[in-house]
Amino acid sequence: MAYVISDECISCGACQAECPVDAISEGDGKYVIDADKCIECGACAGTCPVGAPKAE
Ligand code: SF4
Ligand code: SF4
Repeated sequence: MAYVISDECISCGACQAECPVDAISEGDGKYVIDADKCIECGACAGTCPVGAPKAE
């Protein structure tokens, strides 16, 4: 499984720089996580100001 960014995302971009495997990119209206790259470290969730990344 991987982390998934919910619609709460405000596209601030903070999580992208924190991801150790470069799994996060800007999507359409929110940032998105490549599930094939995510190693579930939780760094994105710890950085996000609105708690948008969720462990699935
Ligand atoms: Fe990247 Fe870790 Fe977030 Fe997965 S949980 S997207 S590896 S920062
Ligand atoms: Fe979206 Fe949170 Fe990432 Fe900012 S840190 S781009 S609000 S998921």
